[in-house]
Amino acid sequence: MQALHSTIASPVWSYFSTICSIPHPSKHDRKLADWIIHWAKEKNISCVQDEIGNLILKKAASHGYENNTAIILQAHLDMVPQKNNNIDHNFLTDAIKPIIEGEWLRADNTTLGADNGIGMAACLAVLADNTLQHGPLEVLLTTDEETGMTGAFGLKANALQGKILLNTDSEQEGELFVGCAGGVNVTVTLPYEIMEREPDNSAFEICLDGLKGGHSGCDINLGRANAIKTLVSVLNNLEGIPFHLAYFEGGSLRNAIPREASCVIICDPQYQNSIEIIINTLQKNLCSQFKASEPNLALSVKSCALPGFILTHKSQANLLTSLTQCNNGVFSMDNNFSDVVQTSSNLGVVSQNRNNRGVFDIQVLVRSQVEQEKQAEAQKIAQQFEQHDATVSLTGNYPGWTPNPHSEIYKTVEKQYVKLFDKQPKAMVIHAGLECGLFSAEYPQWDMISFGPTIKFPHSPDEKVQINSVDKFWQLLVATLKAID
Ligand SMILES: [Zn+2]
Repeated sequence: MQALHSTIASPVWSYFSTICSIPHPSKHDRKLADWIIHWAKEKNISCVQDEIGNLILKKAASHGYENNTAIILQAHLDMVPQKNNNIDHNFLTDAIKPIIEGEWLRADNTTLGADNGIGMAACLAVLADNTLQHGPLEVLLTTDEETGMTGAFGLKANALQGKILLNTDSEQEGELFVGCAGGVNVTVTLPYEIMEREPDNSAFEICLDGLKGGHSGCDINLGRANAIKTLVSVLNNLEGIPFHLAYFEGGSLRNAIPREASCVIICDPQYQNSIEIIINTLQKNLCSQFKASEPNLALSVKSCALPGFILTHKSQANLLTSLTQCNNGVFSMDNNFSDVVQTSSNLGVVSQNRNNRGVFDIQVLVRSQVEQEKQAEAQKIAQQFEQHDATVSLTGNYPGWTPNPHSEIYKTVEKQYVKLFDKQPKAMVIHAGLECGLFSAEYPQWDMISFGPTIKFPHSPDEKVQINSVDKFWQLLVATLKAID
């Protein structure tokens, strides 16, 4: 990384190099926090750690900026530990090895931790540099962002005095984030009753797979097929075939669009041919319906072993009707930002508890930038299931960050961006969670913005950061700190 010390962002690279040398995976960011506490002490920078593990560092305003608006600069302490199978790497003890590759910096078969290590390095570089100009400054380094935003959830009201928050945890240079979605989990327990099947029936397994899936927020508007919804529609299309459902399962994560679903049905053997013909036709119809978004969609049917039981008529109708009615996908679009989803839901998982017979567990995630709309949508989905004898709980609610069209900090950063780079930045809203959403609960008065360098493939061993985007990020940060009055 020596080569990077002659770049504009040299102070950032210097701290990033240190950060790479100290292990800090999620749930184990203590070592890095301890190093920062020690570093701050040596530099005479005030640093406190709250009960949950967040660090708050303070630096007085530079000369002449004492009466300016107080600023909070923020990053998260932890990184996602992911590695390729071909190497030995212990994230608890081993340093990350950064490698320059053309215009990018990556790691040696592990995540790099540029998410959010570059932002954190910039925070330290600002604290250490007494030639920069800025108002009263606080640096907030949150713990455990990547596995539950524990630090942001636990941040106490009144812990910080700043009025403007600059979050450094976004991943596309040239984009300024001004809002994000909140979320709420809709968890459904749908009991079912079973009955004995006819002894001379045949069983068929119907599978839908080959779908792309993806992030249930960022990818929800890409027109991808939801495996669960699509398989339900297939069953609804088996008109004229008197079938009984035994099993139905699909998806594996609430926050991922389900890629696969399967079910087992039984019916009189005389219908085998009709079923095969219908499934074949439906496969063709689905392939043409999802031609652009799901080129590998595969619907198949095959004979299988007879299941031990079948659902009663009532239970089968409860499951299929409630899954048919369950709202899924984009619910509304943001009026102020083009192509930004405002409210969505993802029917992510249906699992069947076959051991302790009698329950389908269904998981839905509702996201929105608008709290009331999120609650209304979650309630609606809950009622749809409750009408069919299910018990529903809404949990894990976290607030979104509603975009503020009158944001002063946006205008300030935009102006600096144009001045520095002679082009317009893009105002963006992300349909996923950022810590800013959680901050807005305890600190509704904060004027917030998020910007960062370009990072590709975060959370994977392919993670890499574009070197010259770090220069631009650093220039924009320094100019913004100076411009906030
Ligand atoms: Zn991050």
